[in-house]
Amino acid sequence: MGEFTLDLNEDQKQVRDWLHGFAADVIRPAAAEWDEREETPWPIIQEAAKLGIYSLDFYAQQFFDPTGLGIPMAMEELFWGDAGIALSIVGTGLAAVGVLANGTEEQIGTWVPQMYGDATDVKVAAFCSSEPDAGSDVASMRTRAVYDEAKDEWVLNGTKTWATNGGIANVHVVVAVVDAELGSKGHASFIVPPNTPGLSQGQKFQKHGIRASHTAEVVLEDVRVPGSCLLGGKDKLDERLARAREKARTGGERVKNAAMATFEASRPAVGAMAVGTARAAYEVALDYAKTRVQFGRPIIENQGVAFQLADMATRIDAARLLVWRASWMATAGKPFTNAEGSMSKLYASEVAKSVTAQAIQILGGNGYTREYPVERMHRDAAIYTIFEGTSEIQRMVISRALAR
Ligand SMILES: Cc1cc2nc3c(=O)[nH]c(=O)nc-3n(C[C@H](O)[C@H](O)[C@H](O)COP(=O)(O)OP(=O)(O)OC[C@H]3O[C@@H](n4cnc5c(N)ncnc54)[C@H](O)[C@@H]3O)c2cc1C
Repeated sequence: MGEFTLDLNEDQKQVRDWLHGFAADVIRPAAAEWDEREETPWPIIQEAAKLGIYSLDFYAQQFFDPTGLGIPMAMEELFWGDAGIALSIVGTGLAAVGVLANGTEEQIGTWVPQMYGDATDVKVAAFCSSEPDAGSDVASMRTRAVYDEAKDEWVLNGTKTWATNGGIANVHVVVAVVDAELGSKGHASFIVPPNTPGLSQGQKFQKHGIRASHTAEVVLEDVRVPGSCLLGGKDKLDERLARAREKARTGGERVKNAAMATFEASRPAVGAMAVGTARAAYEVALDYAKTRVQFGRPIIENQGVAFQLADMATRIDAARLLVWRASWMATAGKPFTNAEGSMSKLYASEVAKSVTAQAIQILGGNGYTREYPVERMHRDAAIYTIFEGTSEIQRMVISRALAR
C-alpha cells in the first residue's frame, strides 16, 4: 500500500510543464485568431503532431498512467491554452476511444493510426452518435445499419448532427441501430473508412464558443462498409443482441449499456477541460485585480472583488479534486457507485461557466471586449454543461445512482 499523496510525480510534472509550455507559447497566442476565423486550426494540430502531442502514443501513455491523473492533467493544460484549439487537438481522441473500447485488436491497429495521420499529413476523426431527434435521449436514435449477407457489407442510412470533426474527418465512427426493438441495447458502432461514397457533410454550425472546433451534420445515404467495419465483429454483436433479447423477454436484471458506461468513464476528462478554462479565466482576473487601480488602490483591495477571487480559486480546486478522484477511481477499477464520474463533470462544468462570468465582471468594461480573453473563455465554457451529457442528464445519472 502506497502512502496517500496528491503530489504529482516527477514524470507527471515534466509532462505537465511541457504541455503548459505548448499551451502558453503556441495555443494561447493563436486563440483569438482561430476563434474569429471559426476554422479548424490545421497548422496548430500539425505543430502538436510534430512534437508528439497529437498522437495515439501520447494519449495511450497518459491513459495508462497508473495514478489515473495523466489524462486530466493533459486536458487541463491544453484547455487552459484555449478550448476551441484544444478540442481540435483532442477531438480525435473521442473517436479513438470508441474504437479502443469496442474494437478488436485488428480494428484498433488498422483504424486508429488513420485517425491521426502523421506530422506531414495530419488527419482527424469524428464520433457520430447524436441526431436531430436523439440528443440526451440516445435511445430514440434512427440511423439504421442493415446487414447485406450476400456481400458481407453493412448499409448505413441516417443523419447525424453536432459531430465534432464531422465531414472533415478521415475516419468516422458512427453509432447506428441494428435492432430497433432493443432501444439503446440494439445499437452498434461502425467505422466508415476514408472517402466512402454516401457519407457527406451537412450543415456546419456557427457556434457561440469553441469556434476553432468544427461541428457539423453528417449525412449517411446508402453508405456501404465491409463487415470488418462493425466494431467488435459480428459474432460478438449477435451474442450481445441475443442476451439483450433474452433479458427483454424474461424481464431480467437491467444490463448496463456499454456505451453509457464508456461515457461515464470519459466524463472526468470533460471535467478536466472545464477546470482548464476556469483556471485560465481566474488567472487573468487575478492578475487584472492586482494591477487595475480605481479610487487610488488596486481593485483587489476591495473585499467585494477579493472574496469573488477567493471563491473562484476554491471552487476550481474543488472541481479538480472531484475530477482527480473520478479519474483515479476509473484507473483503479473502482465502480462509480455514486456516479462519481458524472459528479465531477457536473460540478467542473458549472464552475467553469460561473468562474468565467465572474472574470468578466472583475475586468469590467475590458472583460466585455475582445481585447481580453475572458469573454471568449466564457463563451467557450458554456459547452461543458451541454456536451457529453447536459448538467440535467448528469443530475439524473447521479440521482438514479443514489436511489438504487
Ligand atoms: C459543440 C458541440 C460538439 C458536440 N460534439 C459531439 C460529437 O462529437 N459527437 C456526438 O455524437 N455529439 C456531439 N455533440 C452533441 C451533444 O452531446 C448534445 O448536444 C447533447 O447530448 C444534448 O443533446 P441535445 O442538444 O439534443 O439537447 P436535448 O436533449 O434536446 O436537451 C435540451 C434541454 O433539455 C434538457 N433535458 C433533456 N431531457 C431531460 C430530462 N429527461 N430531464 C431534464 N432535462 C432534460 C437538457 O438538459 C437540455 O437542457 C456536440 C454538441 C455540441 C454543441
